[in-house]
Amino acid sequence: MSKVLREKVLVVDGTGLTLIVERKGRVKNVNARLKGSVLRVSAPPGMREEDLAPVVENLARKLLRRAHARRVNEEGEALALARKVAARFPYPPSVGRVLFVTTQRSRWGSYSPRTDTVRLNAALRSMPRWVLEAVVAHELAHAFHPDHSPSFWRLLRSVCPETDRAKAFLAGVSWLAHHYGELTPVERDLLGIEGATGLDDRTCSP
Ligand SMILES: [Zn+2]
Repeated sequence: MSKVLREKVLVVDGTGLTLIVERKGRVKNVNARLKGSVLRVSAPPGMREEDLAPVVENLARKLLRRAHARRVNEEGEALALARKVAARFPYPPSVGRVLFVTTQRSRWGSYSPRTDTVRLNAALRSMPRWVLEAVVAHELAHAFHPDHSPSFWRLLRSVCPETDRAKAFLAGVSWLAHHYGELTPVERDLLGIEGATGLDDRTCSP
């Protein structure tokens, strides 16, 4: 069985990976393993380079997301934070675990009272703590009001006064994520306004 090894650098979602492609005679599918920043790929010998590239990129993205979510979940910090937020409710909902997930692309979080689980969009991990707190509070408040009725907002603002600020912050984040590609390099540069990072250490404690 002959093996051909090739090594190059692959950049996926801004993360640089060392890509090692191995052509194996017996391999029928493309397989990938990510260890640290090294991505090892085995591919059938006959597969064309231009067919392989998009498959590798997809696999790399998936593995990176998974690795990122796992690292976050191990921290356990989010669980302590969620329990702290839960304790502010008149009837504290029970939080058994908090998971950062990469599968909820259309929402920031969810809470299941049945499994006591808070699921948070993994992108929240790198955002200010008070934003994460506000999302947790929002999801927990749904345990009492499934809708976005006035009573829902009243309860939410009573346990998290930073609710509206966090809502605006997340709307800005989403806007930028959707429009970043349309901005010119000069405009992107202009976004780095001093003191406008929102990274101050407010919390949503009432
Ligand atoms: Zn909601």
